[in-house]
Amino acid sequence: MNYRRNILSLLLTCLALQMTSCVTTGSNQALNKTIDQMIPEGGHKQALKGALEATRDWTPEEEHQLGQDMSAILLGASPLVANSEAQQYVNHVGMWLALQTEQPQIPWRFGIIDTPNINAFAAPGGYIFITRGLFLNLSSEAELAGVLGHEISHVLKKHHIQVIKKRGAGDVVFGLLKAKAEKSAQVDMTAINNLTRNLYSAGLDKADEYEADRMGVVLAARAGYSAFGLPAVLQMYAAAPQDASFTLLFATHPAPNDRLNALDQLMSDRFNDLNAGLTKFTRLETMQRKLSYQAPQKPTKNSGSKTKK
Ligand SMILES: [Zn+2]
Repeated sequence: MNYRRNILSLLLTCLALQMTSCVTTGSNQALNKTIDQMIPEGGHKQALKGALEATRDWTPEEEHQLGQDMSAILLGASPLVANSEAQQYVNHVGMWLALQTEQPQIPWRFGIIDTPNINAFAAPGGYIFITRGLFLNLSSEAELAGVLGHEISHVLKKHHIQVIKKRGAGDVVFGLLKAKAEKSAQVDMTAINNLTRNLYSAGLDKADEYEADRMGVVLAARAGYSAFGLPAVLQMYAAAPQDASFTLLFATHPAPNDRLNALDQLMSDRFNDLNAGLTKFTRLETMQRKLSYQAPQKPTKNSGSKTKK
């Protein structure tokens, strides 16, 4: 009887820890020890330890493995644009931004994916994608830097992994990653497949989007770009017709005007000195021309409102 009650209380503790995401390595070790002392060898013990382990901070290798799997699924739906110069260009801008972060050592990878939809995505471990539709609608390299800075921030703040844990899929995903790393015979990737599709169709938490906006603006400015690149992109979203190419973006992000208002409070006067032109326009334009043979219909933009203030 005691044994059953102990299992129940341990499960509740694990669950509570998972929900509040407050697990530290120390408390994980303590709980592991308790599991060892209280529960005999067997299936329950392994299941409990597995669930507990998934709540700890994932290692960079585990994050990278998950990001690789998720990116493969994203690229299965929309492959990379077949233009190495444009891909190199986006990597060049992205790497420069990544160098300004506290984690330049992450194996960052940037790419343009071949879809007319307007969007950008990140996956854990440093994978960043911008769609051809969004790339072709940018008006300056500062805007590209703002978009990439936003996505880089999702990776730095581990927003995807937090959402996976918060939505209760942490132990399943973690178990699969572990099985894969240990080269267990047959790993069924259906769970990761479903999770990836759900994650990108439901989006991250709204608070995470606002945080990525704030960090993206600072990162672009730190890299020497106008801080008003990202706001200019949000203005383009706000002014765009509500057509199908924006459906997923609008379904997974706060309204562009709400994002602009939130940034406005942060930026008010702080970045005025940095609003010295949206830099390196021609380089972006050259790359856009290379892809323009497959350009989708451009949504009408409010071209007079490129910069705030
Ligand atoms: Zn985002």
